Amino acid sequence: MQFDAELLLLAMAPVFLACIAWEAWHFARTRRLARLYSWPDTLCNAALALMHQGADKLAWLAVVPVYAYVYTHFRLFTWHGGWVSFLVLFVAQDLLYYVFHRCSHRIRWFWAAHVVHHSSERLNLSTAFRQSLMYPIAGMWAFWIPLALIGFPPNEIIAIVLVNLAFQFFVHTQAIGRLGWLEYVFNTPSIHRCHHARNPRYIDRNYAGVLVIWDRLFGSYVPEDPEDAPQYGIVEPLRSHNPLTATFHEWGAMLSDALHAPRLGDKLRAVFGPPEWASAYHAMRAEQAGERDGPSREAAGPAAPRAPVSRET
Ligand SMILES: [Zn+2]
Ligand SMILES: [Zn+2]
Repeated sequence: MQFDAELLLLAMAPVFLACIAWEAWHFARTRRLARLYSWPDTLCNAALALMHQGADKLAWLAVVPVYAYVYTHFRLFTWHGGWVSFLVLFVAQDLLYYVFHRCSHRIRWFWAAHVVHHSSERLNLSTAFRQSLMYPIAGMWAFWIPLALIGFPPNEIIAIVLVNLAFQFFVHTQAIGRLGWLEYVFNTPSIHRCHHARNPRYIDRNYAGVLVIWDRLFGSYVPEDPEDAPQYGIVEPLRSHNPLTATFHEWGAMLSDALHAPRLGDKLRAVFGPPEWASAYHAMRAEQAGERDGPSREAAGPAAPRAPVSRET
């Protein structure tokens, strides 16, 4: 099956904008617009989307030769188009997306890029566009190399990645409730609301791209609980609508921790450990500083963590 990724994006752009307009109208009608949308937040999301699109275009140019090399020299199978080939590509990429997304929450290097998507305290369709231009540096593209290995050419890899991300646009909304049996198979708005929440019960859950079966298989699924409404954002709030701050704050904190940690093990953990390591490390450093500074400092209580830390959803 042949894809044209550029055409797909062009065709979807008016659909995305129409959906955002519908969602804003729906919230205005139900008097929730001011709570669910804000101009600074939406404009920040839009700026991040443009920055991300630019970086992505450059990144595809750089990584297509890598996919092509693997496809030409190492591919294990040759597919001849048709629905079977499409289904294999779709399922394989969705599983790899699950792996990528789980790594993005459990390894600080990847979290430094992915945190951008989670640092808004609102959740609406415009949040879907809130992405990091640093994904190519973090190495998101490397997660798709197995697709070339199992016999898919670069243009199909890029297209299926875009199809997966396009689907995910529709799950970023509070306008739609639970969707019955669909919740067993697909990622839905209810499932993804949990993923964006910082409540303890929702942390590190629901990594699905299109199919939620991976979360159910690998033990990371949690349903939305009406008694525990999702609170959106990260544990240490960003408190900024500056897209550059949103993009680079965690990279800065990670670099600083790696440079200042006295032991090699801690330097490595600062970059490759789970994001909550940073929280514990900052608390320990603050405690040590408190002991050094004596009782007057201790009396003031423990210092807050210095850097914004992943809330690990
Ligand atoms: Zn995530
Ligand atoms: Zn999301």
